[in-house]
Amino acid sequence: MSEQEPLRVLYLAAEAVPFAKTGGLADVAGSLPKALKALGVDIRLGLPRYACIDREQFGLTPLIESFPVPVDNRTIAADLYRTTIGKDVPVYLVENAHYYDREGIYMYPDDADRFIFFCRAILEALKRLDWRPDVIHCNDWHTAIVPNWLKTIYADDPFYRDTATLYTIHNLAYQGIFGHRVLEVAGIDEYGFIVHPDIPDLDNVVDMMGRGIYFADLISTVSETYAQEILTPEYGERLDPLLRDRRDRLFGLPNGIDTAVYDPATDPYIAAHYDLHDLSGKALCKEDLQAEAGLTRDPYAPLIGAISRLTDHKGFDLIAAVIEPLLRHSNLQFVFLGTGEQRYHDLFRSLQQRHPERLAIFFTFNAPLAQKIYAGSDIFLMPSRFEPCGLGQMIAMRYGSIPLVRLTGGLADTVTDFDPETGHGNGFAFKSYDPLALYGTIIRAVENYKYRDTWRRLMLQVMSEDHSWETSAHKYVDLYRRAIASRLPRPPREVYQIAEPI
Ligand code: ADP
Repeated sequence: MSEQEPLRVLYLAAEAVPFAKTGGLADVAGSLPKALKALGVDIRLGLPRYACIDREQFGLTPLIESFPVPVDNRTIAADLYRTTIGKDVPVYLVENAHYYDREGIYMYPDDADRFIFFCRAILEALKRLDWRPDVIHCNDWHTAIVPNWLKTIYADDPFYRDTATLYTIHNLAYQGIFGHRVLEVAGIDEYGFIVHPDIPDLDNVVDMMGRGIYFADLISTVSETYAQEILTPEYGERLDPLLRDRRDRLFGLPNGIDTAVYDPATDPYIAAHYDLHDLSGKALCKEDLQAEAGLTRDPYAPLIGAISRLTDHKGFDLIAAVIEPLLRHSNLQFVFLGTGEQRYHDLFRSLQQRHPERLAIFFTFNAPLAQKIYAGSDIFLMPSRFEPCGLGQMIAMRYGSIPLVRLTGGLADTVTDFDPETGHGNGFAFKSYDPLALYGTIIRAVENYKYRDTWRRLMLQVMSEDHSWETSAHKYVDLYRRAIASRLPRPPREVYQIAEPI
């Protein structure tokens, strides 16, 4: 590849906006490629064609009909469709009725097979299209098999011999752990399990994320702080020894947000538009949200929004511990959006019944409603136990909702605690994972909210921050070039051996 030729990058993900979304990965996969394209990268996105991706709505055109994809020791046919996002970023979608003609995206017992098939189909399809990527950028466990293949079954393949891989960890907590059969499906059973002296159970499971980390030329994660945290046993989800071994190839690059999608000046889903020069629309958005949520229409009651999976990892155990006292001792209002653990469903349902004018919860996934909550809330709550990057706090800032966070991962990199004396800071933050710390921080935010001028300045401050992809996209280009330059022809066997299955 010469410096003149555009860098060719294949970006693989299990979800991407606007096609399919369950969380932050979809935001990233739908917006980073557009930013890279603007920098001149020939980037192309690969996705499964789930049933929810309507062919007509998304302008899918057939590209390759019924081509064979190796699975186990046979082949299964796939079809390839094409469409584009942004300014002509090609998107390749793999179709197979058996694997993808189902409701939703994940949570099927054969998810490993489904994503292995997707990855293999894309690799085979690119050969037919004769488009050879310089780098394949894989994301999370669903596409982690690709670096493994490029160092094994495709290592001597003339088409992929020089292709480098970057593996991005969006959340180390979801590793994709399966049994030996998956190696047969992927056609790599002859290589067996991975052995690591400090991860005892790695040699009798197929840990997809572990494989991505082990085999990729470079590894990245989505904030600088999280890149440091995952090297420790506290955050390393038992893969920290492997990550420490490869720390010279591990980078932390913060995510950005799609500032065209998340823009209170143009957002089609919110009640009124507003911007840095005229904030008046935000009050209307708050009134609209209070009406939709059935809360008292009180412009002076501070309104806290949270859009999140209802899990401990997102800090819901802390929220559960403080919410009743907060409802008793303040004039706060709450709007929650999300689904998750049953005990949180029960708790919030009961709170909503007892305080319908103060608290509302929507147990659903609904992007337009999410945007109404970003726009209509005064404070955005993310007290996460761990947070690789977190997009919610950045989207909230764009809408002038002040983030209230626990300082971990990307939250620590984007939010600094506000000091009313100096005017320094862009949110409210606490460090120790403790209900009292959360409680105190919320009370502090409520006290500051009473000072209208101070609060207004804080809103203008967060709305003027740049959380676009601009800076990080340049860093990804550097990382792609580095991946090519430091590509390893074989896996780092000097450290590991591949164990035979038991
Ligand atoms: P994670 O990827 O861990 O879920 P992030 O903060 O990185 O968390 O990204 C979450 C993304 O998903 C944000 O765009 C947020 O607005 C969106 N989101 C989360 N839950 C919902 C929901 N119930 N309805 C609509 N959007 C949601």
